[in-house]
Amino acid sequence: MFFAFPVPPESEGTTSVRKIKRLLSFQRYFHTQRFCRVISSQNFLSIIDIDCSGQAKCMLEKVGTWKFDIFRFHQMTNGNSLVALTFYLFKLHGLIEYFHLDVVKLRRFLVMVQEDYHQNNPYHNEVHAADVTQAMHCYLMEPEFAKSLSPWDILISLLAAATHDVDHPGVNQPFLIKTRHYLACLYKNTSVLENHHWRSAVCMLQETQLFSHLPVEDNFLIERQLGSLILATDINRQIEFLTKFRIHLDGEGVTLVDAGHRHFMLQIALKCADICNPCRAWELSKQWGERVSEEFFHQGTFNFITYVVEPLFAEWSRFSNTILSQTMLGHLRLNKATWKEILHPQATGGNVTDATYGKTN
Ligand SMILES: [Zn+2]
Repeated sequence: MFFAFPVPPESEGTTSVRKIKRLLSFQRYFHTQRFCRVISSQNFLSIIDIDCSGQAKCMLEKVGTWKFDIFRFHQMTNGNSLVALTFYLFKLHGLIEYFHLDVVKLRRFLVMVQEDYHQNNPYHNEVHAADVTQAMHCYLMEPEFAKSLSPWDILISLLAAATHDVDHPGVNQPFLIKTRHYLACLYKNTSVLENHHWRSAVCMLQETQLFSHLPVEDNFLIERQLGSLILATDINRQIEFLTKFRIHLDGEGVTLVDAGHRHFMLQIALKCADICNPCRAWELSKQWGERVSEEFFHQGTFNFITYVVEPLFAEWSRFSNTILSQTMLGHLRLNKATWKEILHPQATGGNVTDATYGKTN
């Protein structure tokens, strides 16, 4: 049942056409009218079924498990994993009823977000966004969080996860600065990509009027908190967040009844979700590693795992010491050893489960 997509995603023609569409939001608006027209002629309740085959629906029943195979789900939904998964999670968490969301606007917003990811990026594409959203959902369900989070927190978290890399050009910030890209000038060489993802997400929220029925101040708050979460994913700010996280854990701990602490932990959760690939089972983790390498020309998967991913997840397991966090650390150590074996076979002597890789710094 795929009647709302007469053509596959990203089939709008040449790259240049897509670039123009991306730059001119009014064209994006015209573009979305197509979806709007198709949907309005259907029974609204069937919107939920649009992106999902029977198999995809079966998979969604296990959306809260860490072994959820997002690549398979992407195939099952005919390339619409981000729309299908996020829509389902909004339903699952009761956000549509709680915030009185218009399902047509919601779907239109999600389609716009998904379309603004660059399908041709090996890594920073809509599958990565769907994967991060699924991971975020797993973290939100962890006992420490589940007992403290409000519908508002869940709404912001899922929105941030789904949009956190939207319109990512597939090159990093140093490249944009060196080539004097207009985005680097616009955002004064600071969190250039993250600022762009955030402002693009806000632009799409405004175009679809998803929250137009809410008070103006709520709309401002959504936009501000969305920015705060997305900007936290800037890897250049890793030390800043990790230091603050350690200070909390070494001191009085994290008090999730405190709104400030809660928001900080949502930032940490999104950061974890964003770089959780090495903490997935090997068959999933390997595919992500290959995609990262393809996009960034072997920038050092192993070093990234050792110096960025592992320290963050070590602290996360101090905050939430559960089966999930232990599973993630277990996968991380095994994957790290396997990468080392692949990259430097002589150094490990073929022993991929060497205990020395079990340390967490
Ligand atoms: Zn990301």
